[in-house]
Amino acid sequence: MIYFDNSATTQVDPRVAQAMAPWHTEAYGNPSSLHRSGRHAREAVEAARAQVAALIGARPREIVFTASGTEADNLALIGAFEAADGHLITSAIEHPAILETARALQRRGVAVTLLPVDQVGKVDPAAVRAALRPNTRVVSIMAASNVVGTIQPLNEITKIVRQAGVLFHTDAVQAVGKLPFDLAVQPIDLLSLSGHKLHGPKGIGALFVREGVRLAPIIHGGGQEGGLRSATENVAGIVGLGRAAELAAAEMEKDNAEAAYLRERLTTGIQAACPQAYVIGDTQDRLPGHLCVGFAGQEGEAIRLLLALDAAGIAVSTGSACSASHAAEPSYVLQAMGFDPFRARGALRLTLGRFNTVAEVDRVVELLPGVVASLRHIATVRA
Ligand code: PLP
Repeated sequence: MIYFDNSATTQVDPRVAQAMAPWHTEAYGNPSSLHRSGRHAREAVEAARAQVAALIGARPREIVFTASGTEADNLALIGAFEAADGHLITSAIEHPAILETARALQRRGVAVTLLPVDQVGKVDPAAVRAALRPNTRVVSIMAASNVVGTIQPLNEITKIVRQAGVLFHTDAVQAVGKLPFDLAVQPIDLLSLSGHKLHGPKGIGALFVREGVRLAPIIHGGGQEGGLRSATENVAGIVGLGRAAELAAAEMEKDNAEAAYLRERLTTGIQAACPQAYVIGDTQDRLPGHLCVGFAGQEGEAIRLLLALDAAGIAVSTGSACSASHAAEPSYVLQAMGFDPFRARGALRLTLGRFNTVAEVDRVVELLPGVVASLRHIATVRA
């Protein structure tokens, strides 16, 4: 299989799997236990916390382990709105982990503003400034889009938000490990990340909570993770996330350079063979391995393209990417970028990661035009 769906999830790096293995079968103590086995597990959890913190320029005590990026997003927003009033500003192209949480808060009485984006998927910092109200408690803008890969102007946005004395959260699930973060200097108060997007395991995430920021827990119990996330720690997952973070920190430059090279090779190859192909998203400020591509005149075909590529052993997503049940629907992200509902069904998302190769890119460039042409033929015959 050729796996070009690294924004959906990534292969666990074998070095991560190796680091995790003993924590299931040999060193399985509970980090809250006082005996040696428990203390050993506690040390592993704290070592991983330091590794995650180092990747984003945070202090270890500012890292709260969660069970996913989704949970980190929920904890950030719900935790900041313990009192059911106030105002939340976010964008129309956020992942459902943010949008559905915002809707849930809205049902509890929080006012929510969804900011629009431009045709490449960027939020205008001036729009953030204009949306601020005296009772705005949180602004949450994703660092980079999971659908089109566009990187948001966080520096400009965070300056405005900080000046207003409002909390700033970013869903950096797609960005951490690809974009450098230095939270010692960046005015970000809360940041979500997820293990399985950076060649770590699924079912583990983390929320950076700047020292001094007060959140209410959303899971209650034994008081682990400084009382913010009760439950016995997922030691193997945490160790895996820590090792994945360490590898990302060491290899980010190399990984990014390779992904960017492969993405350009893929883009030029596809465009040379399919003149109707057009790139969606920002051409400059985009995640290095991310290509969202539409095929003019075949906008309704993305799901069939995906299935035909799958039959040829190539895994990609559509632009409606986050769940299979929505794959055939118009993407709300592309619609927010100004695509009409028909064109908003037409994008393919090809996302490259650490383990992709030139040979795989060349194979996709070789196969894709034929697949596109065969569907075009069917579309014409049907019409
Ligand atoms: N936020 C973004 C931008 C994502 O792309 C994803 C996953 O696709 C999530 C949040 C959810 O992360 P997790 O799968 O760890 O719950």
